[in-house]
Parts: sequence; C-alpha cells; structure tokens
Amino acid sequence: MVAGDGRAGVREDGYVTRAWNFSAGPATLPLSVLERARDELLELPGAAASVLEISHRSPAFEAVIDEAETNLRALLAIPPTHRVLFLQGGASLQFSMVPMNLLRGRTAPAEYVLTGSWSKKALAEARREGRVRVAWDGAGTGWRAVPDLSALAFDAAAPYVHVASNETIQGVGFPDGFEPAAGPPLVCDASSDFLSRPLPVDRYALLYAGAQKNAGAAGLTLVVLREDALAQIPDGLPTMLDFRTFVAHRSLYNTPPTFAIYLLVLVTRWLRDDVGGLEKIRERNREKAALLYDGIDGSEGFYRGHAEVAARSLMNVTWRLPSEDLEARFVADATREALLELKGHRSVGGIRASIYNAMPVEGVKDLRTFMEDFRARHA
Ligand code: PMP
Repeated sequence: MVAGDGRAGVREDGYVTRAWNFSAGPATLPLSVLERARDELLELPGAAASVLEISHRSPAFEAVIDEAETNLRALLAIPPTHRVLFLQGGASLQFSMVPMNLLRGRTAPAEYVLTGSWSKKALAEARREGRVRVAWDGAGTGWRAVPDLSALAFDAAAPYVHVASNETIQGVGFPDGFEPAAGPPLVCDASSDFLSRPLPVDRYALLYAGAQKNAGAAGLTLVVLREDALAQIPDGLPTMLDFRTFVAHRSLYNTPPTFAIYLLVLVTRWLRDDVGGLEKIRERNREKAALLYDGIDGSEGFYRGHAEVAARSLMNVTWRLPSEDLEARFVADATREALLELKGHRSVGGIRASIYNAMPVEGVKDLRTFMEDFRARHA
C-alpha cells in the first residue's frame, strides 16, 4: 500500500487497494488514523493489551475517554456550561431521547424545522412524546432550501427548536452563523457536519451527532448538552434513556463503545495536529465543495444541482443528470475509475458525493476530472 493521505493505488493484478470513497456514512477516514489504529491494535501504548481487550474502567481506557473529551472541548471551544456525553443508539435514538428528556410533560409544543429526511424522522419520533409544531416545512421547496431561523416566529415557551444542520440525503445545510442569538433553546442534529467547521456552542442547548461520518466509527453518538437542560428532565425515564445517567457517570454507567471512542481520539488528534483545527478544515471543506459545485454550474445544464445555492451542503453534494440512464452509467463508470459510492439516496435519485473532512482534495479533484470527461462523452 502506498502511504499518504488518500488512495493507495492499483496493484499489479488490478486489485484496487484503496479507492476514493464517497460514502455518506460510515465514511472515509483519514489514512493516517487507520494506520495508527492498525499499528496500535495489538497493544495500546501503556496498556499491554489491545484497546479492544481492556476494561472500560481501567486507567488506560480512562485516559482514552478523558482525551476524547479534552480534544473535543479544545477543537469546538466547548464552554464549561456544556457537558460532553458518549452514547450509543445512533443519532436515531436521539430523535426519541431528546423529546423524552426535554419535551415529556411540557405543555408548549417543541418547534421542528423540516429541511429533509432526517429532520422529518426526528419530528415523527417527537410526536410520540408530546406536542410538536412544524415551524418551517421545506416540502414546498422540494427540500432544496433552508430557512433563516431568525426570521421564524417560535413560541417563546417552546421547550426547544429542533434543526438538522446538514441534511445528508438532500445535501442541504445551514450556513455558518445560522444559530439565532435569542429564542427557545436550540437542539441540533449535527450528524453529518459535526467537526466540519467551528460552531458557537454556547448558542446550543443540545447538539448530537453519530460519529460515523466525521468523528470516526459507527456505534458512538456524541451529545453536547448545556447543564440547564438537565433541570428539565422528568423523573421516571429508563436509566439508559436519561441524560442524567451519562452525566453522573461520565458516560461510564455501562460499557461504552470503547473502540469507537478510541478512534475519536485519533480523529481529533488528526484534526488538531495534521489539519490545524476547525477553521482550517472549514477552508479545506469549502475548497472541496467549490470544486464540485463549480463543475455543476459550469456544465451548461448537463449537471443540475439539487440544493438552492444558498443552502448547498459542504458535506454532501447532490445533483442530477439529464436522464436516469445517464445517472446509472455515471455511477458505473465512476466505480471503474475507483470513485466509489456515488449513487444518490433512492428518495432523491441522481448522484451524491459525500466529501467529509477525511476526503482529501485530491479525491475531489479526481471526481471533478471524471465529471468533465463524462460530460464530454455524453453531453
Ligand atoms: N441524522 C443525520 C443528519 C444523518 O445523516 C443520519 C445518518 N445518515 C442520522 C441522523 C441517523 O444516524 P444513525 O444511523 O447514527 O442513527
């Protein structure tokens, strides 16, 4: 395998050892992170055993989970008012856990902003727990737009406003600084743009994200929760569904997803040391997304972007071709060029290129070149 931060290449027998992987999640990881995990797999430094083999209560694992929290706090500048929790169940469990903890027993409805498939799923689960109100519905725009949250009229007594900062399937996202300075507590599903840019964490009451896109491996869900939200939680919730359990036990009430937490440490070190922090990764993410959006905009209508320009995601770029036949051929030809997982989600169709933090600029450049070649052949 060729070292470097991307594709390893094609062996003599034609076997592709590491292609550019545009999967929406689980998704490509920094090669240096994978190499480090491989090198340390048999013996975690200082543990004399694999991280897979040690107790979650051992000093060696305590050091891992402590570093995971320290690194996240440093990267995102998480203030002391907020707790960092390491959970399981995916972001999907948060669709239920959030309203169980913050909506149950309240009279005013929670406000849901619908911008795509994931925020709709969050709403459906919240309905089971209490009163909800749809504050904005993107259906009328064909799920191509996001609202200006400051211009929406929220019930001042609402327990929270729920948004998905990036809709992974549609490829629409909120711009930097979308978080209103005032209004009801803000709750955000940040699964697919977590750690892709700096965030004003103090504006969030609760932020959650599955780790399997930008933060490592599936099995770990991150929750960043403001302490004042804890006071609202009703008694009587199942222990494992009550945020207070994880706060009281520092996410070690039961066995956490230890390996995924270890990978988070490697990913956050990579972000800090190799990339240089979240401002830097945002620059890189903007550059990558611009390569694809410029390719779409310059294609004389051959490629048609799904999202309105102002709502374009920097993480999931979605577009259509003139016909479904051509879309199928695009995906098949790309696969032969070792550009993988470009088929759009079935609910949107077309093409989706997920270009999370770990996708190198070179991978996106190769995709852009392929787009140009494909258009030249088929326009
Ligand atoms: N929210 C968003 C924005 C997502 O992209 C996903 C997964 N693709 C989910 C929620 C669901 O996450 P999980 O599979 O971890 O439950």
